[in-house]
Amino acid sequence: MAEPRDTDVLAALAAIVGETNVVTGADAAPYLTDWRKRFTGAALAVVRPASTEQVSRVVRLAAQHDLAIVPQGGNTGLCGGATPDAGSRNIVLSTSRLNRVRSIDVLNNTMIVEAGVPLARAQDAAREAGRLFPLSLAAEGSATIGGNLATNAGGTQVLRYGNARELCLGLEVVTADGEIWSGLNALRKNNTGYDLRDLFIGAEGTLGVITSACVKLFPLPQSTGTALVALHRVEDALALLDLAQQHAASTLTGFELFSDFCLRLVEKHFSDHRSPFAARHDWHVLIEISNHQSAEATTTLLEHLLETALAAGLIEDAVIAQSGAQAAELWELREHISEAQAAEGKNIKHDISVPISRIAEFVRETDALLARRFPGVRMVIFGHLGDGNLHYNVSAPGFGSGQDDGSFIAQQPAVYEAVHDQVHRFGGSISAEHGIGQLKRDELLRYKSSVEVALMRRIKQALDPDNRMNPGKILS
Ligand SMILES: Cc1cc2nc3c(=O)[nH]c(=O)nc-3n(C[C@H](O)[C@H](O)[C@H](O)COP(=O)(O)OP(=O)(O)OC[C@H]3O[C@@H](n4cnc5c(N)ncnc54)[C@H](O)[C@@H]3O)c2cc1C
Repeated sequence: MAEPRDTDVLAALAAIVGETNVVTGADAAPYLTDWRKRFTGAALAVVRPASTEQVSRVVRLAAQHDLAIVPQGGNTGLCGGATPDAGSRNIVLSTSRLNRVRSIDVLNNTMIVEAGVPLARAQDAAREAGRLFPLSLAAEGSATIGGNLATNAGGTQVLRYGNARELCLGLEVVTADGEIWSGLNALRKNNTGYDLRDLFIGAEGTLGVITSACVKLFPLPQSTGTALVALHRVEDALALLDLAQQHAASTLTGFELFSDFCLRLVEKHFSDHRSPFAARHDWHVLIEISNHQSAEATTTLLEHLLETALAAGLIEDAVIAQSGAQAAELWELREHISEAQAAEGKNIKHDISVPISRIAEFVRETDALLARRFPGVRMVIFGHLGDGNLHYNVSAPGFGSGQDDGSFIAQQPAVYEAVHDQVHRFGGSISAEHGIGQLKRDELLRYKSSVEVALMRRIKQALDPDNRMNPGKILS
């Protein structure tokens, strides 16, 4: 039951966004649990403003009533960043109604999109204008531009186009005190002091609410070539990456690695999806080339690359997609890994990056370490090899091991520490593309220097002195 004071707040919120856009009770439940169902929180209300002005008024109202603001886009984040804490002094600010593509400047190759536009819709809008918006990830139907920028998302084409930060030229932000910063510049060059845009990107809603962004567009490729390659060792995959970059240069847009165990999980839980190879192979690489030449030229490029790799003994087998449908089937194998892993049972996920040249050594050493310390765990290793980014995941021991999910998950802190210590030793990052949220908040402190943490705290203090923006995320 809401306190009388809270009733006043709810009425004031309704006056700003309309009664139907102040969601409470059971209707608010989907907004209060994260995608992976690891975190559940509480909130006075979920509020859905439809304009930047309304966001500003909601933030100011929250300040008057000492409420925290938890920005939320598609709620697909993997670190609990969009889930409020268990106290009820939160407002979840959903960007679902900030959903307009405001403008596209074809000649300038830019697009201004509101924060709540789902990524897939932004891609479609760009394509309809004859341009490419290259950010791409499996959650793109639900994940929003605001969430992508707040987590500095990566995805499958970072190798060629960069991550969300590199795709963004300007932002519009509502600050913690409710001011509107209109920084929607569409400039490739702008050296006019501190780059505020870069502070808000990757800040996971802890410094302000992104309400709109100016993003870069690119020419649409004329043809795409996709191949799935089977190989024996991660070292060979790295040598293949080097070869592919020599052959394809900037037309190489995807280079995704996954193990045979990943493929077996997909085959087990999604019976429509099968390996195209007759034999089993330890590792697979999905290669994508996006070219500005004809389909024939792209196929020839891919064939030449694979013939050279075969002759060098780097690969054991390969298939080249002969149609868009076949290419999609190959991508489905890669994109179903996360879901197949979830269907298999509990897992402990690491989204790590290490220098590309050290990945094979990292996998070999860390696999051996985990096998010694946590007998029976099963490694689910896949990721964006071309970016040095692996989803180095650990699944519970299989059926018959005698270990239940609960006791497996109880080992999470120890597994995290083992893997992240290794990452640190290899000069890597404990979060390559998913962010920190509440999941890795304490881990962050283990690996950042005290100087870096102190600077981060000073930025937070300067931009959000009352700790009103998404408290408890990134920094405690
Ligand atoms: C199946 C699946 C596959 C994925 N694959 C990839 C991948 O390949 N690469 C990759 O990088 N990521 C991947 N992700 C994670 C993905 O990057 C994030 O889920 C996505 O970018 C978050 O968008 P969202 O709108 O759902 O944000 P939410 O989950 O709603 O929020 C995420 C964070 O951003 C903040 N936030 C959201 N909107 C705003 C805003 N407007 N202003 C300020 N802060 C805001 C939230 O407070 C929270 O901290 C995947 C996720 C899933 C579920």
